[in-house]
Amino acid sequence: MSPSIPPDELFQRLAVAQKHLDAGFSHLPPLDPTPLGEDAAAILQQAAERLRDDFPYGHPLYAGQMLKPPHPIARAAYALAMSVNPNNHALDSSHASSVMEVEAVEALARMFGLPQHLGHLSSGGTFANLEALWIAGQIAPGKAIAASDQAHYTHTRISSVLGLPFVKIPSDAQGRMDLAALEQVLATGTIGTVVATLGTTAIGTVDPLDQILALQSRYQFRVHVDAAYGGYFTLVTDLAPEIRAAYDLISHADSIVVDPHKHGLQPYGCGCILFRDPTVGLFYKHDSPYTYFSSKQLHLGEISLECSRAGASAVALWATQRLLPYDRDGEFARNLSSGHQAARQLYERLATHPAFVVPSFVPPLDILFWTASAPTPAASSLLAQAIFDKAARHDLHLALATLPTRFFPPNTWKSTSGSSQPDTVLCLRSVLMKPEHLRWLDQIWRRLLEAIV
Ligand SMILES: *Cc1c(COP(=O)(O)O)cnc(C)c1O
Repeated sequence: MSPSIPPDELFQRLAVAQKHLDAGFSHLPPLDPTPLGEDAAAILQQAAERLRDDFPYGHPLYAGQMLKPPHPIARAAYALAMSVNPNNHALDSSHASSVMEVEAVEALARMFGLPQHLGHLSSGGTFANLEALWIAGQIAPGKAIAASDQAHYTHTRISSVLGLPFVKIPSDAQGRMDLAALEQVLATGTIGTVVATLGTTAIGTVDPLDQILALQSRYQFRVHVDAAYGGYFTLVTDLAPEIRAAYDLISHADSIVVDPHKHGLQPYGCGCILFRDPTVGLFYKHDSPYTYFSSKQLHLGEISLECSRAGASAVALWATQRLLPYDRDGEFARNLSSGHQAARQLYERLATHPAFVVPSFVPPLDILFWTASAPTPAASSLLAQAIFDKAARHDLHLALATLPTRFFPPNTWKSTSGSSQPDTVLCLRSVLMKPEHLRWLDQIWRRLLEAIV
């Protein structure tokens, strides 16, 4: 489902732009157009039928996983660029869209306050993190990658792909990297890079980047910021002070990952890696006899691990940034802020309702989790599952997450220690990342109350 723009507007505006693009090539001998035909129409109908099997990710009553529809201008710009189908690997295959990528990446670097940078778009956060840690491994061969137990699961995998040891640092009761534990590990001299997650994927917590960076005065290590999900929150002005403190120092990190396909209103296939020191580009050096034949200028493929990349991704991001610039007082930032507000408001309602229990900290960004009141974590888990199922039958789509009981206040359950109770509990989880979520909060709340079992 598209966000609410008038029906057909997207296709009308796309048609106008497409005509203008095509006119740029009108000096060429015309091609014979061949209609797609009835078979294609029938197949598209079947595809539409199959897609009706999805959850309504674009609707505000979908308040589960980290899913957000691309902005209509991103859809239109992507479709427009697809008619050219540029490949941003080399300038020969992406004259226009490579330059648009450079500009779009610059806008992201500016948003983080980087005075200079080297960076490019990628297929997503995983690949962008892989590049960051690959460079880290080139700079400190054999040294370990450290990340918190709340970091994205792919960091373990990436380290294994790169042949680098991985060290998991415990998180505190708020899911933030435990600094004492980190310092102990740093003291061993085995850590090459610390991954600070600004916006963890499960619960949206923010590692204390300011305090992690402060440890660089005593220990030598690189800092990589994984802000695939949370990066754009740097534009939000009403973050809690300790969270703001982390965001304010992002530009001091050696590398940063942000996913425009999460909070940047882009279709999937759009991540971004930024390095603070542009000279890391030297590590990418390769020799290919056929790829770069037309110019001495930099080709993005020379500073990217991936070869082919969709130029259309860059065009879509570029267009979206022009409509919704990354300004702290702009509409883009306000939309992020409204998700943050929605999460805090829902947290307040849950906290005062006897059927639910909430964690001991308010949602740092726009993700919140809670579970059902019950004497034991196991009983809470059963109820949470039942509420999840019933809510879906009321068209309210939430998510589930198994999380440590230590994220909840100590007296939440009668017995958690000494018994056979698990130290995790099944939680309901909601990512309120759509701008409409704040306005729809009453609807969401009503359906959630109807789902209490
Ligand atoms: C989503 C996410 C990733 C993985 O990014 P993909 O775009 O899904 O590949 C990595 N780290 C964090 C913190 C994320 O939220």
